[in-house]
Amino acid sequence: MNIQELRGLMAELNHPAYRAEQLFEWLHRRGAASFMDMNNLPVALREALAGECHIPPCRVVKTQTSKDTTVKYLFSLGEDGVHIESVLMGYNHGFSLCISTQAGCRMGCKFCASAIGGLVRNLTAGEMCAQVYNVPEGVSSIVLMGCGEPLDNFDAVVRFIALITHPKGANLGARHITVSTCGLVPEIYALARMKLQVNLAVSLHGPSDEIRRQFMPVANRYPLEELLEACRFYTDTTRRRITYEYALASRINDAPQQAQELARRLRGQLCHVNLIPVNAKSRERSHFAPTPRREAEAFAAVLTRHHIPTTIRRSLGNDIAAACGQLRVQHGE
Ligand code: SAH
Repeated sequence: MNIQELRGLMAELNHPAYRAEQLFEWLHRRGAASFMDMNNLPVALREALAGECHIPPCRVVKTQTSKDTTVKYLFSLGEDGVHIESVLMGYNHGFSLCISTQAGCRMGCKFCASAIGGLVRNLTAGEMCAQVYNVPEGVSSIVLMGCGEPLDNFDAVVRFIALITHPKGANLGARHITVSTCGLVPEIYALARMKLQVNLAVSLHGPSDEIRRQFMPVANRYPLEELLEACRFYTDTTRRRITYEYALASRINDAPQQAQELARRLRGQLCHVNLIPVNAKSRERSHFAPTPRREAEAFAAVLTRHHIPTTIRRSLGNDIAAACGQLRVQHGE
């Protein structure tokens, strides 16, 4: 609940409005798991809250640490037995947490483990917050790049951004939050109009519709031209640079001519390209093989020559199946 809703609740329970702020701080700054711990609230209020409401049970049930120090958390969401994953990555500037926005995903991208089994359910904004509050290290940035398509759970994601940036809560700057989408065009327009100052990352993976369709069914719904138009609207409206994510798969989308075609498509856009050699989506042999380092560098060089800022992303957490495209919904224990 946000502060307004908590104020409404205080009125219903006959308690003064300022209690709403105290309660909000307990929930969103301290990540309290029980009303009984809230020792600056009167016992009568704590008891009333415990009787009327519940804090979604969302707890870490398993932690795995990679050789590269990346940590993967398995969360149990309580009642319905759904389990989801988050990944904590250490950089020199602090910790970045990659959170899930849905249990499963219905976008069906062929190289991504999150799509196996389809969508189980949307996460609530509270469940997204809980992933942040339950991680022991202080988090300085959040990426919505875990399991799920954030813009397919639009309202809860917008609510989550409002909660996590609230000054009385975790107070994280919107500029430290990145929302990643496979390219849902109407929702990109809707997000742009909200002018939230969050970063937008768009999963492109190909310079043409033909190539994108080999990876991503969503490319049949929204042609690349329409997607790039929406992205231009996003940068024009927010003045924020877009990151295009591009997973390099050997002999599919990694030829120098494809880099040229991409450069032509992106010319003049306020953007940045993040290349990542494709990860195996599970332990089985994958249909897609990662582009070797030298060819990835050659691909990046073409883009750079065309004045498109480009980086090759380090892959983290591969040994614990925590790298891009490896997170998935887990059922029970
Ligand atoms: N649904 C959102 C959020 C997921 S983000 C989106 O599609 O953007 C995860 C990122 O990892 C996306 O760019 C996704 O396309 C990419 N990805 C998925 N599977 C991958 C794989 N096997 N190797 C590398 N990147 C992958």
